[in-house]
Amino acid sequence: MPSKNAIQGEKGLLCPKCSHLNPSNLNQCEYCNSQLFVKCKKCSAKVQRVFSQCPECRHRMHKSVFQKIKRRMFRRSKKITLGQTIFIVIVAFGAYKVITMAAGKM
Ligand SMILES: [Zn+2]
Ligand SMILES: [Zn+2]
Repeated sequence: MPSKNAIQGEKGLLCPKCSHLNPSNLNQCEYCNSQLFVKCKKCSAKVQRVFSQCPECRHRMHKSVFQKIKRRMFRRSKKITLGQTIFIVIVAFGAYKVITMAAGKM
């Protein structure tokens, strides 16, 4: 497994808020001024906010931005439930009945 610090040195620092790639010598995003680092509650190491785990002590940080995006995508792809499908069918059938009855009276 490659070290996360090596990745940081190569690619710079990804802003957790606006996804701007900053030079690795900055502590704040040069685009939106949000903090790029958080202090690990367990070992006090300086950890990038985009990481979900402290690379020093493996302490679990806040949920990562990527996990949030993943969850959002899952929620969006979630199909309608069986109950909702039955409800739509009943409503459509009811509307069809009303329309045919109205048409028959005319
Ligand atoms: Zn930013
Ligand atoms: Zn730590």
